[in-house]
Amino acid sequence: MPVTTTPHHIAVVGGGIGGLAAALAIARAGHEVTLVERAAQFGEIGAGLQLAPNASLALEELGVLAEVQSTAVAPPQLVMMDALTGDQITAIDLRSTAYKERFKHPYLVTHRTDLHAALLAACREHPAVTLRTGHTVTHAEQDASAVRLHFAEPVEVLTADAVVAADGLHSKLRQALVGDGDPVCSRYVAFRGALPAERMSGRMSQHAASEAVMVWAGPRMHLVQYPVRRGELYNQVAVFESDSYAPDSDDWGTEAELEERFAGACQAVRDALPLVSRDRRWPLYDRLPVDNWVHGRITLLGDAAHPMLQYLAQGACQALEDAVALGHAVGRFSDPADAFTAYAELRRERAARIQTNARRFGDICHLEGMGATLRNMLLASRSPEDFDDISWVWTPAPVPTPAGTTAP
Ligand SMILES: Cc1cc2nc3c(=O)[nH]c(=O)nc-3n(C[C@H](O)[C@H](O)[C@H](O)COP(=O)(O)OP(=O)(O)OC[C@H]3O[C@@H](n4cnc5c(N)ncnc54)[C@H](O)[C@@H]3O)c2cc1C
Repeated sequence: MPVTTTPHHIAVVGGGIGGLAAALAIARAGHEVTLVERAAQFGEIGAGLQLAPNASLALEELGVLAEVQSTAVAPPQLVMMDALTGDQITAIDLRSTAYKERFKHPYLVTHRTDLHAALLAACREHPAVTLRTGHTVTHAEQDASAVRLHFAEPVEVLTADAVVAADGLHSKLRQALVGDGDPVCSRYVAFRGALPAERMSGRMSQHAASEAVMVWAGPRMHLVQYPVRRGELYNQVAVFESDSYAPDSDDWGTEAELEERFAGACQAVRDALPLVSRDRRWPLYDRLPVDNWVHGRITLLGDAAHPMLQYLAQGACQALEDAVALGHAVGRFSDPADAFTAYAELRRERAARIQTNARRFGDICHLEGMGATLRNMLLASRSPEDFDDISWVWTPAPVPTPAGTTAP
């Protein structure tokens, strides 16, 4: 990481994966950071997360890859199956020489709390990071030299030289600065969670037992499965489109609809479904890409900047890429506004492309009838060592370094 010449005090709003990674990157670039989180305690939800090689590269740059790897699983393959027939559609070999030569960094699957804990521990250890929970930001004001953050609870003002808004999908700061309304609901919902792996005994396909990431693609539904936390837990995510979606209601995408949508699935999917967590349902949202991530001394990061559907498993990966790019930028420019502009210029186009293609990949995954047949036929011809279609997603743009050269 570069070393800054003019230390600033930068506030980060939001203590999710994006906010913690940003705080760490900014502190490692030589600035003071105060991170404010509205929850009473830091935490993540009890489900899994896929980290493609672009994310493991970012974690290495943030100095936490080894810690994350100590609990994560490195799956041998990504396998796409037909959820109706139970036949394999295609696979990607994640341990081949071709994979290693191309991406150099591992594909990992982790429990969200393990990744979050690794980032939180690194922030706690860094002397330049101050962490505050129970602080809900209501709005921000800025002039040419500072930003003032206002809180609902406690009633106080935090003044910083600049602010990074990493306050997630429903970002208050984005709402005020970008003004593009509410996130777009896809009418799909997810039921998800991780359970002790032994509870899956007798309910796993051969591939799943090998620790592969399984994606069972079906008409307007899919199931994702993979092990996390050294293989001790097994993560399952069941996703489907609801026919009862109503914009102003929360009574759609119900458990009964889940059962109905998956009723025609193959035996392996039906065996797994009773063990998909029903504790909570997650309506799935994204937004269309926007250009204006930077507003003077405030910038957006992570889901606040580029909320996307999860079909390419890239939302958190992109937040980690954001954090690394931001760290480099605040190390290169003494004016935070210039640093934010450089960061956004590097990140915007790539994040937008992934946001847009996540929707498209969801459509491909959820094809029905003839569409699904054609998809399966086309994908059957690809080799597990052919990465040409996914390589751009898993390869971040090179980050400029102070000397004007670029880091990988
Ligand atoms: C079903 C599903 C599966 C997914 N799978 C993957 C995957 O496999 N791989 C992947 O890379 N991504 C995945 N994602 C996306 C990923 O979860 C998100 O992109 C990522 O968690 C976003 O992190 P974030 O820090 O930007 O936002 P968040 O995690 O939403 O964090 C925002 C934080 O800000 C805090 N906050 C909000 N408002 C305020 C306020 N006013 N004041 C103070 N604090 C505030 C919140 O409490 C929260 O802690 C998935 C998403 C879903 C829904």
